[in-house]
Amino acid sequence: MGIARKILLVVLDGVSDRPLDDKTPLQMANKPNLDSIARLGINGIMDPVAPGIRTGSDVAHLALLGYDPYKVYNGRGPLEAAGVGIQLKKGDIAFRCNFATMKDGIIVDRRAGRMRDNSELAKAIQEGVKLDAELIFKRSTGHRAAMVLRGKGLSSNVTSSDPKHEGEPVKSVHAIGPESERTANILNEFIKQSENILENHPINTERKRSGKPPANTILIRGAGTVQKIETFPERYGLKGAVIAATGLIIGIGIRYGLDYIETEGATGGVDSNISAKVKNAINALNDHDFVLLNIKGADESGHDGRIEEKTQFISKIDKAFEPIVGLEDTLVVVTADHSTPIAVRDHSADPVPVMIKGSGIRVDNVRTYDEISAATGGLNRICSMDLMPILMDLIDNTKKFGA
Ligand SMILES: [Zn+2]
Repeated sequence: MGIARKILLVVLDGVSDRPLDDKTPLQMANKPNLDSIARLGINGIMDPVAPGIRTGSDVAHLALLGYDPYKVYNGRGPLEAAGVGIQLKKGDIAFRCNFATMKDGIIVDRRAGRMRDNSELAKAIQEGVKLDAELIFKRSTGHRAAMVLRGKGLSSNVTSSDPKHEGEPVKSVHAIGPESERTANILNEFIKQSENILENHPINTERKRSGKPPANTILIRGAGTVQKIETFPERYGLKGAVIAATGLIIGIGIRYGLDYIETEGATGGVDSNISAKVKNAINALNDHDFVLLNIKGADESGHDGRIEEKTQFISKIDKAFEPIVGLEDTLVVVTADHSTPIAVRDHSADPVPVMIKGSGIRVDNVRTYDEISAATGGLNRICSMDLMPILMDLIDNTKKFGA
């Protein structure tokens, strides 16, 4: 066998778990295809960033792409903004926003009834709000939006306006240092003007009439300054693509120079069309050296504490993975970005199982894909930032250190 030249990196978001009774959802699920990859590959466990570090999906994905999040991560705002298609410029201040429901100054619903489409409201804000800086405000999925302030003398060193809990008053934005006072004032002015626009917008009149919570305020968080970064193609000399359904992962891909390939029917939930994503990923390998495929649903089940749903979703993923098992001339890597244990209902620092299949691999004795079996495999225990260097060597794309 020759050397694989391409890489398919599959991230089963939050799939990794802890035993419930005595088994994890991965151990309980019916998953012959994932088990085949384990049998044909080398297995191990992997710490997201480092042992004991509990990561968000953004930080975890940056580390999987080989970047040191301690050096490159500067807030979720720039990633969300890239994810909705805003063309970012160095020095921009980017934020993620929620449409929310406020009554007498108190937040009663942080997600405005998880509204489905906020494009009309976002457009009204973009057109109506006038600030002492350039404003770009764009809708994202559901109740989410992204915002960019552009101009001189701006700073991301400001507090969030999100009280984080319902039943608490809306917070105003505060400057953390003297250099950010002007930015804080602009953001508070933005909130005031948006609330005026939203208050009497026909969409909200209609929502109130039909008993739905109106989207009458905007919560701002995740402030980050847009900096120059070394893109994935610049760093590795590989042409890459990203296939994902959540704005954050799409944003990471776009921001780091991967081509975003949209998939019809991909939702980011357990109802997502996994087969369509797999098909797109395999097609993308025709004209890309590297494809990042993120499948989100298991993370949601973990956050919601739904063990049945998580286990069944793993089996659903497995059914769609048959074409991946047979891929040739490609390194197939299957892992998770972090664990989202049912019992924790949030991300934990537990290491995740990782497996690599392809030519030249030192196949080990692991027979199934799960957290416990993987720990006995030939990769032993690595950190997610180690993954890209290992893969680059396996595709024979590294320089020798020394003579
Ligand atoms: Zn995640």
